[in-house]
Amino acid sequence: MLSRTSQSLKAARALTSSRAALIVPTAVARSVRPASRLQAGCSPALSIRGFSASAVKKEHESTRPEIDTPPSLYTFTDEEEMLRETVRKFAQEVVGPRVLAMDEAEQMDADIIKGLFDQGLMGIETAAEHEGSEMSFMAAIIAVEELAKVDPSISVMCDVHNTLVNSTLRLYGNDDVKARFLPRLATDTLGSFCLSEPASGSDAFALQTTAKLDASGDYYLLNGSKMWITNSAEAGIFLVFANVDPSKGYKGITCFAVEKEMGVVIAKKEKKVRDFALFVHFWVFKFEPTCLGRFEQLGIKASSTCLLSFDDVKVPKENVVGEIGKGYKIAIDILNEGRIGIAAQMIGLAQGAFDKSVKYAYERKQFGKAVGDFQGMAFQFADVLTEIEAARLLTYNAARLKEQGKPFVREAAMAKYYASNVAQRASGMAIEWAGGVGFTREVGLEKYWRDSKIGAIYEGTSNIQLETIAKLLKKDYV
Ligand SMILES: Cc1cc2nc3c(=O)[nH]c(=O)nc-3n(C[C@H](O)[C@H](O)[C@H](O)COP(=O)(O)OP(=O)(O)OC[C@H]3O[C@@H](n4cnc5c(N)ncnc54)[C@H](O)[C@@H]3O)c2cc1C
Repeated sequence: MLSRTSQSLKAARALTSSRAALIVPTAVARSVRPASRLQAGCSPALSIRGFSASAVKKEHESTRPEIDTPPSLYTFTDEEEMLRETVRKFAQEVVGPRVLAMDEAEQMDADIIKGLFDQGLMGIETAAEHEGSEMSFMAAIIAVEELAKVDPSISVMCDVHNTLVNSTLRLYGNDDVKARFLPRLATDTLGSFCLSEPASGSDAFALQTTAKLDASGDYYLLNGSKMWITNSAEAGIFLVFANVDPSKGYKGITCFAVEKEMGVVIAKKEKKVRDFALFVHFWVFKFEPTCLGRFEQLGIKASSTCLLSFDDVKVPKENVVGEIGKGYKIAIDILNEGRIGIAAQMIGLAQGAFDKSVKYAYERKQFGKAVGDFQGMAFQFADVLTEIEAARLLTYNAARLKEQGKPFVREAAMAKYYASNVAQRASGMAIEWAGGVGFTREVGLEKYWRDSKIGAIYEGTSNIQLETIAKLLKKDYV
């Protein structure tokens, strides 16, 4: 049976000519407060006039005759357009009012997770036979971008779930693995992608988690720990990379689909590590960081990033994803395309900060006119918007190249590298354009800035992206 959202997305396909058919769904929609002109989540006393989440008009009419030419990167299918509208509405009306509270509490709102499932946003590319929405990769990119305009934490949850977890199972799982896991991941169970460990980040294949076949030959016993795992506090399914034969080095790395109930120990919130130095101390002195807790993060605070530990976790051999010893290849391939998702998160973040701040600047008056009308401000808007546009085009181009089966790895690395720089700059400028109120927590601009830092770190740091670009460009010259 199809999920409610998958059904609604499928029904909507037949109705794409009628945008009125787009609705914010079900249980979450019922609890939505009317969209406010004021910053979502602000207490009334602190709400600042002009900080609205409403969309900004950007249509420009052309007077040139149309000619037959390949389409621009702004060409979307009706289905993709429809998805963008649906996600935009969901993000503004359902997520928006809860952003600050989630950031303060460092906790995902369970209603929002449910809302993402109900909307069909947790199985975007998953086949209908596995209860997914069976849409394009670009559709996933659009969803991640639109969510990030309002909350980059929600955006990364959706991104990791779709572009890393679902994609790994969809592209590498056998029929049995797909049938057992994809429907759950499309309808009600969050997923995590577990590669990084305390001693292996950029050098991911130095991982030390092991998977040993037990005496019966039916199970693997997983031992080790994983670090920085997105979605892990709420997830039920974990894709864990472990080495079945360390003597073979990275060629022993294998991917396993692990269920929480099998014995994954997830650091509890109350055991949060408040002092990074404490962790380093434990690490340096070779204490295992088992269940130390969850770090206090600079940004995307609502996104859970826990430590996991595996102590003889029994995983049936049927849960191997792809070939034994080919986990390194899966990880490389999936992260290459997953980076386009992080680029989308960063352009959404940049645009969200830009929209919020520039709208305010055209309402805030000093010296008798709107501050946005001073040339010194307007030129900065123009400069930053040009960068956001360039980052968006890099991102859409990488996504379309991937969809078309063309080489995209260099373009994906460029998109992530550039978009994460742009996000930092745009969100930093957005704070300055708003003056003193930009510096307050309540209007949410500082949150975009804090959130922007992660773009240059996860799914390959900026140096790793540059390394990829440099390696690939050299081939053109040597
Ligand atoms: C919030 C958050 C969420 C995350 N989510 C996940 C997740 O869901 N799953 C998962 O598996 N991992 C996750 N990660 C881990 C993330 O992918 C790693 O943090 C990242 O790959 C960097 O690894 P590291 O932190 O060990 O840094 P290191 O690898 O120690 O890097 C430190 C510095 O050295 C530089 N450096 C390293 N190697 C080179 C080199 N060869 N050339 C030049 N410079 C180099 C880096 O660019 C960086 O500046 C997450 C991390 C964070 C912070």
